[in-house]
Parts: sequence; structure tokens; C-alpha cells
Amino acid sequence: MQLLSTLLDLVYPRTCTVCGVATGAGQGYVCWDCMAGFEVIGRPFCSVCGDPAEGMIEHDYQCSYCQRKKPGFDVARSALRYRGAVRDVLQLLKYSRQTYLVDDLLPYLSACLSSNYSRVLFDAVTFVPLYPKKERERTFNQARLLAARLAGKHGLPFLPNCLERVRYTATQTELNASARRENVSGAFAPLNRKWINGRTLLLVDDVMTTGATVDEVSRVLKEAGASGVFVLTVARG
Ligand SMILES: [Zn+2]
Ligand SMILES: [Zn+2]
Repeated sequence: MQLLSTLLDLVYPRTCTVCGVATGAGQGYVCWDCMAGFEVIGRPFCSVCGDPAEGMIEHDYQCSYCQRKKPGFDVARSALRYRGAVRDVLQLLKYSRQTYLVDDLLPYLSACLSSNYSRVLFDAVTFVPLYPKKERERTFNQARLLAARLAGKHGLPFLPNCLERVRYTATQTELNASARRENVSGAFAPLNRKWINGRTLLLVDDVMTTGATVDEVSRVLKEAGASGVFVLTVARG
């Protein structure tokens, strides 16, 4: 397999999916220059929702939203800022069916899991489901691909059927925070309660913006008896 891949790289030089420059054989699908533009999220950030904060904050801090209203999840963390090449990669993955880009994102997601949740004992990894019609149109769910690969890499059970999306929701891009909450309210339902009840779950999604979707999914998982819900996303808007 390795030899075949090396030969293919010689015949068809690999190019960066984002900017189109030729990349070295064996490298992923994103070139070093584009990857150098990935902004890894570091401290300071809200200790609950992981939202990055500006400036120097030494102590443990909670953002104004988490202080006002306790989110449905226990903790949320994201690996990268949703900007520049990260945004390009995630949009190519989602809208152009370039599912191999999961390979380039997985190391960031995996490092974020190890550095933030090393003390959490997860029973399983799950993801934010798509409405079935939407998933059929797209042919895949990017959150599911990321979650399955992450579970495999960390030797954790993967739970594909613990939740379903029971209502079609308009795309959230143009909506403000409160409209997003309303948009996803009641959109999810538990499918397999015995897999949720008493479990500590890692909930994976591609992008977290206001957190309305993962908040709602977490709330549904907690109502179905989950003892812990920890969110992990590739990017944070
Ligand atoms: Zn590039
Ligand atoms: Zn917060």
C-alpha cells in the first residue's frame, strides 16, 4: 500500500486542497503553509464553554454567558479558531465532499482531547446528528466521520445511534444567538436510552459558534440520563 501510494504521488503529484500548491509525497492534503495558518486555541478561555478570551487572564474564568446560564454540557473545548485555512478545510469537507480532509483535522482534534480531557473517563464517543434527508443529500455527516475516527484513535467505543434529529432546521449561519437557540429547540430526541443512561459521553461536532446546537444536544442527552457530556469540536467561530 505504501509503495502504491508513493508511486501514485510520483505520477500524480499531490496538491494542497486549500491553495493548490504541490505538496511533498506522503504529506496530508493540506500544505505546510496553509497548516501554519491554523490558529490553535490556547489559554485564556472560558473554563466551561472554552470560548477564547482576549488579554491576560491568570485565574480560572467563566464567560458572561456561562455565568448567566448554565450550559447543557459539562465542558466544551475546540481545537482551532474557525478562520482562514481552517474555515476553508471545514467548508471543503462539508460542502465539496472532500472527506479525506478528516485525516488532516484528526491530529488537532485528538490533541485537544488529550490536553483537555485527560482526567475524564469516557464511556463512548458520539456526535451531532444531521436530519436524515440532509444526510442523504450530503451522503455523509462530517461530525460522524470525525467522531468515529477519533474514537478509533483513542480506543473508545463509538455510539452511532444514541440520538436522532427529528426536525429539519434552517442553516444557522445567518441567525443571531437567540434565534439559533430557538431554531434547534426540540430538534433532537434520544434513540437509544440504555446507551445514554448513566454514561459519560464525548460529543463531537465540526464547528461550534454560539454553542446553541451542542447545548441543545447535551441537554437532551442529560435528560435521557447521561451522567456527563463533554463537547469537543474541531473549530470555534
Ligand atoms: Zn496550501
Ligand atoms: Zn463560557
